[in-house]
Amino acid sequence: MQSKNLPKTIAVHAGTVPDKNTGAIMTPIFMTSTYVQEAPGVHKGYDYSRADNPTREAHEKALAEIEVGASKALAFSSGLAAEQAIIQLLNPGDRVIVCDDVYGGTGRLFRRLFAKYNIDFQFVDMNDHELVRQTATKNTKLIWMESPTNPTMKVIDIKAMATIAKSVGALLVVDNTFASPYFQSPLLLGADIVLHSSTKYIGGHSDMIGGCVMMSRDDLFEQLKFIQFAAGSVPSPFESFLFLRSIKTLAIRMEQHAINALAVAEYLEKHSAVRKVYYPGLPSHPGHELAKRQMKGFSGMVSFDLAGNYDHVLKFLKKLKVFALAESLGGVESLINHPEKMTHASVPEELRRKLGIGPTLLRLSVGIEDPRDLIADLEQALTIS
Ligand SMILES: *Cc1c(COP(=O)(O)O)cnc(C)c1O
Repeated sequence: MQSKNLPKTIAVHAGTVPDKNTGAIMTPIFMTSTYVQEAPGVHKGYDYSRADNPTREAHEKALAEIEVGASKALAFSSGLAAEQAIIQLLNPGDRVIVCDDVYGGTGRLFRRLFAKYNIDFQFVDMNDHELVRQTATKNTKLIWMESPTNPTMKVIDIKAMATIAKSVGALLVVDNTFASPYFQSPLLLGADIVLHSSTKYIGGHSDMIGGCVMMSRDDLFEQLKFIQFAAGSVPSPFESFLFLRSIKTLAIRMEQHAINALAVAEYLEKHSAVRKVYYPGLPSHPGHELAKRQMKGFSGMVSFDLAGNYDHVLKFLKKLKVFALAESLGGVESLINHPEKMTHASVPEELRRKLGIGPTLLRLSVGIEDPRDLIADLEQALTIS
């Protein structure tokens, strides 16, 4: 699917200009902690690399260009570091409404770390708009959502959440990791802050941990830039260079992820050894119509319930040759994950059951290999004797 939102040309050129000193077409890696000053306080705009570094600056400029609707971006050392910076905008006593199937690490950060600073996190089903409306009060400072969500790919209405946030003067934060900047532009739908675990699709090669936030409001940028500087969770210049390199292929990678994911989802949906498939690109998915409205493509994450029991799951996993059993997602290679025992092991059991995360649920991060090879791999593994 050709995205109208993020032109491929922008992805290729984002953030980079030829080096002023040498003409190098690629941004140099400025591995330096400090910068020589001509006189006290007189310098070229850089005094210490936690505050500013030219390679990170190019990385952040690229992130602002690829997230449509953003004017500024900040890079962090992980997705969770980016989330922590956003929560540090708050004060004790503030309330946050969070989608109940939020990423496990986000739930852990909120429940186990920030709750003790007297920030109140209320986890709700965001497909129930009335419930979100009733939960929102004047003390609600943030509404925090993902879409599609993990692992059942629930689609949440970004515009509707933005309307509720505005009605109580709260900010809407969208974790856009699963869609990537290529397939979804929450800032155009009313979000105030977008965040990504760049570890996933933005990095795209399963070789780095990183995070970022994007926004269009200067006041939010200034506050978050101060938090980034004061708290210090910045990526290294080397990582910034690699993220810049990754961003150049974001558009073509995402298109192949989506083509392959749809092929895999359609294949699985027809298979008798599969009970249920969760992919927003399938017309059978309850969020399909909404996903068509608010996304430019359905991205590369597919979950499914295997018919049978956990023993069947173990046999199936053993037989796979192309899909690797691993946590994480968004890399060029295909991965498979067992949410109950892996990514979602820290989610309280009762909530796991409510979200439909059982022993036979599997989540695929569909890579950019030849889709025929991916389907052939699933086919031979599904033939469980
Ligand atoms: C991985 C992930 C995060 C956390 O990012 P890290 O880079 O692992 O710190 C946050 N949100 C979502 C949706 C993720 O998949």
